[in-house]
Amino acid sequence: MKRLKQTLSRIDGKGYKAYKDLQGEYRFPHFQLMIDYVQGDPFAAPSRIRVRMPQSEAKIPEEWFTQPHRKVALEDWIARVWAEKAARYSFRAKGTGKSGLIGVDRPGQEILPRTAAVVTRDYVEVRVTVGLPAQGRRVLGRKAEEMLCDYLPRLVMEATPADSIDREGVEERMKLVDNQRAIRQYLKEKGWIAFIANSAVLPRESGISDRPLKGENVVEFRAPESLEVSVKVPHGSPIRGMAIRDGITLIVGGGYHGKSTLLNALERGVYDHIAGDGREYVITDAEAVKVRAEDGRRVEKVNISPFINNLPFGRDTVRFSTEDASGSTSQATNIVESLEMGASCLLIDEDTSATNFMIRDGRMQKLVAKGKEPITPFIDKVRQLYEEKGTSSILVLGGSGDYFDVADTVIMMDEYLPYEVTREAKEVARIQTNDRSREGGEEFGEVTPRKVLGKGFDPRKGKKEKVDAKGLRSIQFGSTVVDLSGVEQLVDVSQTRAIAEMMRLIGKKADGGKTLRELIEAIYAEIGQKGLDVISPFKGQHPGDLALPRKHEVAAAVNRLRTLRVL
Ligand code: ADP
Ligand code: MG
Repeated sequence: MKRLKQTLSRIDGKGYKAYKDLQGEYRFPHFQLMIDYVQGDPFAAPSRIRVRMPQSEAKIPEEWFTQPHRKVALEDWIARVWAEKAARYSFRAKGTGKSGLIGVDRPGQEILPRTAAVVTRDYVEVRVTVGLPAQGRRVLGRKAEEMLCDYLPRLVMEATPADSIDREGVEERMKLVDNQRAIRQYLKEKGWIAFIANSAVLPRESGISDRPLKGENVVEFRAPESLEVSVKVPHGSPIRGMAIRDGITLIVGGGYHGKSTLLNALERGVYDHIAGDGREYVITDAEAVKVRAEDGRRVEKVNISPFINNLPFGRDTVRFSTEDASGSTSQATNIVESLEMGASCLLIDEDTSATNFMIRDGRMQKLVAKGKEPITPFIDKVRQLYEEKGTSSILVLGGSGDYFDVADTVIMMDEYLPYEVTREAKEVARIQTNDRSREGGEEFGEVTPRKVLGKGFDPRKGKKEKVDAKGLRSIQFGSTVVDLSGVEQLVDVSQTRAIAEMMRLIGKKADGGKTLRELIEAIYAEIGQKGLDVISPFKGQHPGDLALPRKHEVAAAVNRLRTLRVL
């Protein structure tokens, strides 16, 4: 600390570049400070530092981090506390640009593995960004000293050692994630897809907020008796709620009765949520994938022949490529790409589907002969998909009763509450036949894994490498921009940053010998061994603000890279 103060007083008043002299490690009474990267000027991306407190000081109980799911929950907890307190400690040092800023990557409603905080048997380390104070382009050495030698140590002591942590809060969190894990395991054992607890709050505050809707108009979830199950959990009494089994599940109901809200909650249920979110006991199999139409996207040699055949001009649909997919071809592509990655369940909403991909009724079949229609609608494939490949589907459909024939379970949303209407739907289907013929053929068809070539990945823009997230649903990769607006289960911009880094790694490993899935799984195997830091070019130092995405979203990004080439 003394050395840090000396350097700061030496560079006080000098040009901003003099701050570079700070890079290095410093010993404080209760922790170690690592200044890994110093920003080039007061407006640039802030400087990156780490504080590491040995467990001899922090004394974090081992039972909070020896099991992987608890470790994730604890690290998330510490990152949250830090982010909140750091925001308060940030002082606008009457300086230029980001002067005085102290920040830690703040988690949202989900509990994700992230790089912001790391707890090991030996230490607790937090990755912080700071704006080193400047007046114009001059170093404000005194202010920097106040920030690093006064504010920062206080923040560290308030937010890191077990003594200062809200123990009850952490204990509650541990119970929550234990229970969430138990429900996930329960679903796995049964082979089921999802669970939604009674009293869950599904609607969100607004279209741009991920927080729960509050107020007297909120209708809490309540399982219909016929679908209600009770799941034993390690803490507290068994949790009751609705189980969605494997197979084909329809969610029907009038417009504005809560169908999409239910599906959205299921989409997010692949992640665990914090207490108070309303969806903490909405648990969905982690391999469930939302698929939608996404016209305009690029497609690189995807085998969409299970759904699309005989395109005009004899275009190949076994290795289908386009720079500008239509609604139906994009939806077919999204499904097939998800299957390549091993999706367990497809989540589909009529609101974001191509109508001609979902249905083709009896009258249309009579008017437009099968030979003239390239599309085999999903309704004729959904059962084969389940029976042959084991992939379930959950479909929101208010507009077509044709699916009654192929559904295993039909749930009706009525004033935001679910009712099971499977028997009624089957009865309707029996009495009122729809007069359509099955067009699905003998079997679903081949899912063809694609081997990725390296040449499509160029991280350079001009002479420099440029790979980064541009907001939640956009990645700059070299000189191309990857549009992820159709990738709805991406929830945190730190995940997007992680995907950008992973794409860089995939580009290095891809040589036409490995499939996309193999390439991605190799990265996850390494993360499993060494932690999420491993994907960062700055591993060993402040790795940047990253959170773990699912493999599906990584694949989705690669698939949307407009320069992608496969064998
Ligand atoms: P649908 O897809 O059936 O047309 P939505 O799911 O889009 O309906 O829901 C319509 C509106 O109702 C949305 O504004 C949503 O926030 C609200 N909503 C959904 N579920 C609930 C609920 N359980 N309690 C209160 N409001 C809800
Ligand atoms: Mg809807």
